[in-house]
Amino acid sequence: MARTPLIAGNWKMNLNHLEAIALVQKVAFALPEKYLEKVEVAFIPPYTDIRGVQIVIEGDKLGFAYGAQDVSVHESGAYTGEISAGMLAKLGCTYVVVGHSERREYHSETDELVAAKAAACHKHGLSPIVCVGEKLETREAGDHVGFVVEQLKGSLAGLDKGQLASTVIAYEPVWAIGTGKTASAADAQEVCAAIRAALTELAGPEIADQMRVLYGGSVNSSTVGELLEQPDVDGGLVGGSSLKPDEFAQLSAIAA
Ligand code: PEP
Repeated sequence: MARTPLIAGNWKMNLNHLEAIALVQKVAFALPEKYLEKVEVAFIPPYTDIRGVQIVIEGDKLGFAYGAQDVSVHESGAYTGEISAGMLAKLGCTYVVVGHSERREYHSETDELVAAKAAACHKHGLSPIVCVGEKLETREAGDHVGFVVEQLKGSLAGLDKGQLASTVIAYEPVWAIGTGKTASAADAQEVCAAIRAALTELAGPEIADQMRVLYGGSVNSSTVGELLEQPDVDGGLVGGSSLKPDEFAQLSAIAA
C-alpha cells in the first residue's frame, strides 16, 4: 500500500510565538504547494506557539498540519501545568508526540504512561506519534530490535485496532537524536521492519500496512532521501533541521 510520507518538525523548547509564526511563513514560502500533495508536513511547536501556528495556517490556507509535543492523561481538573487532549483538539491539532526519549529520560515516562497518553489522544480524535528507540549501550549489545519491539508493545498497550490505525510510530534511536549521528538507512529499515511486523501481530496486516512508521535522529536534507527509499520508513520526525526553514522545506520536498 502506498503510504503518504509524513515529515513532522519537533521544535522542542525553541521559538516564541512570534518566531513560530515567522518560521511557518518562511517554510510556506520555500516549499511550493504542489509538494504537499505528495508529502504531509506537520509542525510540532511548544504549547505556547500552537494558537499562533493555527492562525497562520488557517488564515493563509496553508496545507500544513500541526500538533503538540506532549499531553496529559487527564481530562481536566486540578493538574497544574498540564494540557489536555481536549484542549489540543479544540486548537485544531492533528498530532501529539508521546513518549519522546527526552520525556522518557527527563520526566521518567514509562511505557504504561505513554500508552495512557496515546489513549487520551484517541479519545479526542488526535493521532499520537508514539516514539520508541534504544540507547547506545542496547544497540552495542545487539539487543536493539528486541528492545524496541517490547517498548512499542508496552507503549501501545490497550489500544484497539481502530485506534492503532490512526497512530503513527516514530523510531528514534536515542544515540542519534541531536547528535548529528544518523542511523544508516539499512539500520533504520531493520528496526522499522521489525516495528511493522509487531504492528501486524497487534492489528493485522491490513492496518499495519497503512500505519506510518517514521525515522527520527539527526535527519537532514542529505540523509532523508535514502532513509525514505526504505520500504518501511514512511517519513521523519525532525528536530534540529526543523528550526531551519530552508532546510526543512528542502527535506520535505525531497520526501515528496
Ligand atoms: C527529535 O527531536 O525527535 C529529533 C529526532 O531531533 P534531531 O533531529 O535534532 O536529532
